[in-house]
Amino acid sequence: MRTLRVSIIAAMSACALVACATEESTVVIDDPLVVEVFAAADVDASVALAIEDSLELATEAWGLYWPTEYWVLGLDPDAGVALVAEFCERRDSRGEWDYDDCMQREAGDEQHSMIEYQQLGAQAVAEGSNFGTAGRNGTVEWGIHRFATMLPWGLAGMMGTPGAEDVKTVFHEYWHAVQHSFIAAVDRDSRDEVMGPVWFIEGSAEFMAQYATAQLIEQGTMPEVPAGDYPFTYEDQMRNKLFDIEGELSGACAGRTVTSIVDYSDECSGLGYGLGAWGMAYLVSQTSPEVLLNDFHPVVESLGFEEAFTQAFGQTIEEFDSEFMEFFASSSESEKLAILPTP
Ligand SMILES: [Zn+2]
Repeated sequence: MRTLRVSIIAAMSACALVACATEESTVVIDDPLVVEVFAAADVDASVALAIEDSLELATEAWGLYWPTEYWVLGLDPDAGVALVAEFCERRDSRGEWDYDDCMQREAGDEQHSMIEYQQLGAQAVAEGSNFGTAGRNGTVEWGIHRFATMLPWGLAGMMGTPGAEDVKTVFHEYWHAVQHSFIAAVDRDSRDEVMGPVWFIEGSAEFMAQYATAQLIEQGTMPEVPAGDYPFTYEDQMRNKLFDIEGELSGACAGRTVTSIVDYSDECSGLGYGLGAWGMAYLVSQTSPEVLLNDFHPVVESLGFEEAFTQAFGQTIEEFDSEFMEFFASSSESEKLAILPTP
């Protein structure tokens, strides 16, 4: 389903920099709807293939709205810079971003650059840490979803991580693309407001990813990936979140409720992922697994976050907050696991 209003492109051909695209007030999609995976030369072909398969499954499940680019960094610094150069050549050739500016930003010392995903990967290996990160980093001005990721340990057969964990991560990141696809405004503040609070953004991405990954396992369509050292199951994943939540609610984040986690800068924003995922599981259990795609996202930009929430879930955010927190505090682990929608 396409949800975008295509606006008149004014003097677009004269634009050589990102800034000029902001003349558009709504997102313009003028490329074919395809998913492309770009990997650094030191990343095994099987890793890129598994990510491609995962993205294809995610778009089959949830739709493909904007062209999608997924950039996979490896561990080798030179291969990393070469991949960033490929990214910047692509931007330059499309008139989206000057090559030198792009390289300065994405291969330089600034935080959240593309090369940082390579640096963090190399650092993790050096320290023997299994830290991993991936992100959807834009870019509405180009009318695409672009992602970047560190080497996914599970798909690369490293750290004992099950490959399925990384398939889940691709789904989590792609859900963010889904969220963005239903917002046509280019202006950042308008987009942030419609995206909603952290507990909702991350909680729904995490729960929908867990649920969809569980469906792949259930239906036998999980891509062939390394097994890792422990089984990856929906119940274990959701149960592990309960342990994490308990730790946080009995520590620095005592007294916090799910909908109080609004900003990424909140020191308890981590709680938004786990408790948010459980909050979303609760909401879905009372409606349907399709509620977000069918009822919430199609109206969120026109109604605004709160109104769309109330319409889709039949209760206000305040009502949900107290009802869910009451359920969470008063139910046992098995009672909680029993509400999980069956994949
Ligand atoms: Zn996320």
